[in-house]
Amino acid sequence: MRLPLALYRCTTNGHEFKEPIVAGGYGILQMWSSTPGRTAIEEAATDPVFDEVLEILRTIPEYAALDDGRRLEAFDAVFGVSCDPDPDGMPYRLNAHPCCPQCGSCKTKFVCIIEPPEYVEAAIPYATHREWFSMTRAERRERLRVALQEHLHPSWPSV
Ligand SMILES: [Zn+2]
Repeated sequence: MRLPLALYRCTTNGHEFKEPIVAGGYGILQMWSSTPGRTAIEEAATDPVFDEVLEILRTIPEYAALDDGRRLEAFDAVFGVSCDPDPDGMPYRLNAHPCCPQCGSCKTKFVCIIEPPEYVEAAIPYATHREWFSMTRAERRERLRVALQEHLHPSWPSV
């Protein structure tokens, strides 16, 4: 696919770098892992796992107790545990930024779409859920519960 490039800045060391962005249609989301350059597409509008994760999260009291804004943050933070990791074994994350290809820092920020537009030919994989589909409902809920604890309480001992 032919994708526009966006400029990102590494806030740790000031590096600037370009990455392709999936300027999606409705329900098309782009995920990034902590491996520089690894990205995947999540078709939220048609992927039943997207709805399933939300439905399971609603059964977890700590999620249900959050306000709307924090629920959105929590969903973005944990959805990746339903996806198979990148080829290097690192999890993908929704609403993340790409990590810096020069120093590896994941403290980066979106600067702008490159103007005049620059395009790159890139084959971005779709997120898959092979491992998720091999799990029972209880295992899926437990995985989400642990990820939610780690998001809400970063020092929480996860069993
Ligand atoms: Zn950097």
